[in-house]
This record gives sequence, structure tokens and C-alpha cells, in this order.
Amino acid sequence: MAELVFFTGTMDSGKSTLALQTDHNYTARGRRGLIFTRGDRAGAARLSSRLGLEVNAREVFDHTDFWAEVGAERRAGRAVDHLVCDEAQFYSPYQVEQLARLVDETEIDVFAFGITTDFRTRLFPGSARLFELADRIEVLQVQSLCWCGARATHNARTVDGVMVTEGDQVVIGDTADDGGTDGDADGRGTNGATGAGNTDDGGADGHGRGAGRTGDSTAGSGTMADEASGGRMDGGNGAPHGGSTGPAAVVAYEVLCRRHHMRRMTAATARRHSTASDSLWN
Ligand SMILES: [Zn+2]
Repeated sequence: MAELVFFTGTMDSGKSTLALQTDHNYTARGRRGLIFTRGDRAGAARLSSRLGLEVNAREVFDHTDFWAEVGAERRAGRAVDHLVCDEAQFYSPYQVEQLARLVDETEIDVFAFGITTDFRTRLFPGSARLFELADRIEVLQVQSLCWCGARATHNARTVDGVMVTEGDQVVIGDTADDGGTDGDADGRGTNGATGAGNTDDGGADGHGRGAGRTGDSTAGSGTMADEASGGRMDGGNGAPHGGSTGPAAVVAYEVLCRRHHMRRMTAATARRHSTASDSLWN
């Protein structure tokens, strides 16, 4: 029996790595699949993993019809045994329904990979529909850590270094690969930094390309009072490559435990707090 399986987790949980591994395993057994993604960090029509693997993929757009895509392949005489669908949180509910229909009526296995919730802790529409329709949900066990060392369960968005919980669900973010939040007390900041902004192990809803770099995190600490920055988050909105942030606002992403997500305490905020308390004793 074919299955619709939803592999889900926070940023940094290795979804794209598993997507690539899954396709490899099936291909090695003589099965032929199609790989889809939406807004991958490596650019359109690429599926890439944080670990450096990268393959060609088909870019999913608002108008993409999975039923038609598979039909066209088969009419051209090419077998389709499975689909690997990365960044599935960005697919529309209707597109998820197409995937379920393919499983039921054409016996194609569909492996969908995506983030569960956005920076507001709300389900992405695509992920919600997958929860409703999938034959099986697999919560990825590759754990990522909050700056405090607890298991990271939630995705946070920062704008100019300040954590926000309102705004459009999809906004281009920064990858901050060169260490956006490095240097916190326990050295785990790099974890958060590499998670920032891209969609697989990166942003809950962000896209690692495009927006400027965060530089170092002190830039964020200097603009803590700039609450107005939230208003500049006008990019994306369902079109991962379609928007951009304002010239000054830097959007980034970080994984946190629930406690620190609720307290809005990012690695940079915690570092500021610890610096402040240190000064009491000096
Ligand atoms: Zn924490």
C-alpha cells in the first residue's frame, strides 16, 4: 500500500537531509521518484541539505498541480514510483490534497518534509493539512537545542535582533551562516545562527536567500527599542521568493525551547541579561 508520510520537526531537525536520503534509498532499489521543493536555500529547483548535499528538484509554485506533473511524466513514458516533497509547509492545502489523491489512486508513495509551526507557534496551512491527511506522521528525532541546552521545539523570528510574534507567516530571512548569534555563554549560539533563516533546518518560514546579513549579533542588541521594525516585514506572504524586507530590517530565525519562546528570550537576549547581571557584581 502506498502511503502519504509527513516527516516533521523544527528547524535544524535534518528534514532535507532525510529527504535526500529517502530518495537515494528508493532510487537504489530501482524506483524512480520526483523531487519537489519550495524556496530551498540553494535557490529555485534545488534541494539542499545543511550537511552539504544538493540535488536538482522541481520548484513548487502556487499554480503547481502535482496530479498534472505526475500525469505528464507518465504520458512521456517515465515511471513515477514516489514523490519527495520538501518544504511542504509552504504547499497549499489544496496541493496537499493532490498528494493524498496521488497516493490513493496511483499507488505512489509520497514523502513530505516540513516544519510544523511558524514563529508564532501556529501551524502552517500546508502542515496542518498534512496532519489531517497523512497516513503517518514522523516527528524527526534529530534534536536541535535552544541556547539554554534544552530541546528546541519552537521557531523564533527576530527583526533587527528583537524577537517578534506577529507578522506575515512567510518572510524572507537571513541564513546568518557566518555566525549571526555566535558567542553566547555556552557556545551554542552557532547552532541558533545556522538555523536562522533558511527553510529546512533554518527558518520556520523564512528563506535564506535575499535579505542582507545579520552580521554579528551586537547589531541586534543595539536596536532593541526599535519596535517599529516589525512593520517592515512585508516580504514573502506566500511567495517565498517574492518579497524582500525593508532596507534596514534584518529578519532571522532561531530555534528555542518552549519556555524561552514564551519568554521571548533568544540567545542574544539571554547574553544581554547575563552581561547585565554580571555588572551587578563588578
Ligand atoms: Zn531554552
